Amino acid sequence: MIAKESKLYSILHGTCPACHEGKVFVSSHSYASIHFTEMHEKCSVCRQAYEPEPGFFQGAMYVSYGITLGVAFAISIVMVLFFNASLWLVMGIITFLMFALLPVIFRSSRMIWLNMFISYKPRLSRN
Ligand SMILES: [Zn+2]
Repeated sequence: MIAKESKLYSILHGTCPACHEGKVFVSSHSYASIHFTEMHEKCSVCRQAYEPEPGFFQGAMYVSYGITLGVAFAISIVMVLFFNASLWLVMGIITFLMFALLPVIFRSSRMIWLNMFISYKPRLSRN
């Protein structure tokens, strides 16, 4: 159980970084719709703007890059050390996983980026 005050709560649940209640993305989860990138403009609970300035989410690309590198590195290590896989098999698996995990990595990198700049304000939440 993750405490509601934790940034991890907001990141994992896709909730507003300011009140941890309003939903950031329009679709309920990463694979619910082809429109998994669509975000609300403001929080429905506390009215926090999700894009404080134009181009705000360009920085989320660096977070996405870091997540992608971490996943690729971990898969490479496991495949080579424990399964003695060839380079082409490892590259194929990484390529497949990057496409399969695209919605998850996209949304989690935006949530991490939002939580880096917007802090939790408990008095904005309903309870
Ligand atoms: Zn909010």
